[in-house]
Amino acid sequence: MIASTNLIEIDAIDHKPREIRPRHLSIAFESLGCRLNHSESASLEGGFDPTEFRVVGAGQGADIVVVNTCFVTTQAESKCRGLIRRILKKSPNTFIVVTGCYAQADVDALQKLGGIDLIVGTEGKMALPELLREAFEQEVSFIQGLPQKCPLPIVFHSSRISREDFTIPALPVRETLTRPNVKIQDGCDFFCTFCIIPHTRGRSRSRRFDDVLREASAWAARGHLEIVLTGVNLGEYDSDGHDLCDLIEAIEQVDGLKRIRLSSIEPTTIPEKLLDLMASSKKLCAYLHIPMQSGSDRILSDMDRRYTREEYRELAQSAIKKIPNLCLGSDVMVGFPGEDEAAFQETYSLIESLPFSYLHVFPYSRREGTRVTRTDLRAVDPLTIKARSAQLCSLSNERRQAFLSRAVGEKVDVLFENLNDEGIFSGFTENYLRVGINTDNNLSGQIHPVRIEGVKKGFAIGSLMI
Ligand code: SF4
Repeated sequence: MIASTNLIEIDAIDHKPREIRPRHLSIAFESLGCRLNHSESASLEGGFDPTEFRVVGAGQGADIVVVNTCFVTTQAESKCRGLIRRILKKSPNTFIVVTGCYAQADVDALQKLGGIDLIVGTEGKMALPELLREAFEQEVSFIQGLPQKCPLPIVFHSSRISREDFTIPALPVRETLTRPNVKIQDGCDFFCTFCIIPHTRGRSRSRRFDDVLREASAWAARGHLEIVLTGVNLGEYDSDGHDLCDLIEAIEQVDGLKRIRLSSIEPTTIPEKLLDLMASSKKLCAYLHIPMQSGSDRILSDMDRRYTREEYRELAQSAIKKIPNLCLGSDVMVGFPGEDEAAFQETYSLIESLPFSYLHVFPYSRREGTRVTRTDLRAVDPLTIKARSAQLCSLSNERRQAFLSRAVGEKVDVLFENLNDEGIFSGFTENYLRVGINTDNNLSGQIHPVRIEGVKKGFAIGSLMI
């Protein structure tokens, strides 16, 4: 990669390069989609040399805007296009960089969209600061220190995505989250028939063990008490012979860090050892988000989900038995092709029989390029999908409220985050109970004991114990 520190101004008329004193360019990130995308944007922000770039918040207007896209559904795709159009309408001269899953999956569509200056696919995503510099030095014209719009987008794209372990050298500069995400893994080998992610993010690969520990220590040194381990398929973590449990045990040794949370984890990748570790650990939070997707064996098989209804039930029951205060959440997909009423009822009854604390309900959205689109399974009528989703959302709300109600009278430790519009300062317990209190003090980033006295919609309410 290029190591020069000076930008080159290409004279707008004779196109001869000449050196200029670089202007301090402002750069903003607009991130769509999953937690991982947001975490990657935060790391990328840290990769820009602060002597040349000033990172500003999304929506604040900047010389350069990086749109970190999502391609998981057609709605996500059109949301990305809408966002790019809105940025250009508001500031037509903004230098637009597009990266993320959309940039990997459909470069042609982005090239045709107009107004985009640089497209960076998955392979180059985490090297975006260097690639932007390369583009500035070799292909972009500058007038008065500002990058000019490119007639056609410059494209860094490869259909081959590396499977090697990776590192993420930069640490986020802006600390917008009380509980920072730490990316430990990327990609997926599972190829569930509805999912585009293995095509957009590539095969499973892990972040180097020492590199994760370095970031965890850095967050602790900055005073953060909790980190959230993120990835596409966390349970597949495998670096230098270390699996996910080894990594957690090593992070537990980081001084100052009080909590380690796992984001979502696939059911077939959870070993007994992880449940035992969660049951005994003083730092690993009692929280498991295990995507179920369906409770029908026929649908699970058509999704190629690698487990049966009974296997999922046994796993969930075993987790609850070992970790009685566990917050158990799940993703459920509604309206997968071929889901008839009987299959939906199997999903509903399995959920009813298990102690979920909440559900994330996703209506199936057809995605070209996924395997299910090449089958003759019948699409489910959108009104039926809507009605089934509503039933599951209602069940999820009941479960959330019941989970909160069970905690009334208990003393819990809350890691406080922020003040809401009603003047309530709220945060989370280690088992992901949202708890709020009335206070005039800024408790952000601090853990305090709270006695839970009641329940409001979506959170428990209590008072500080002194
Ligand atoms: S496990 Fe399945 S749903 Fe999850 S990322 Fe991999 S292919 Fe997609």
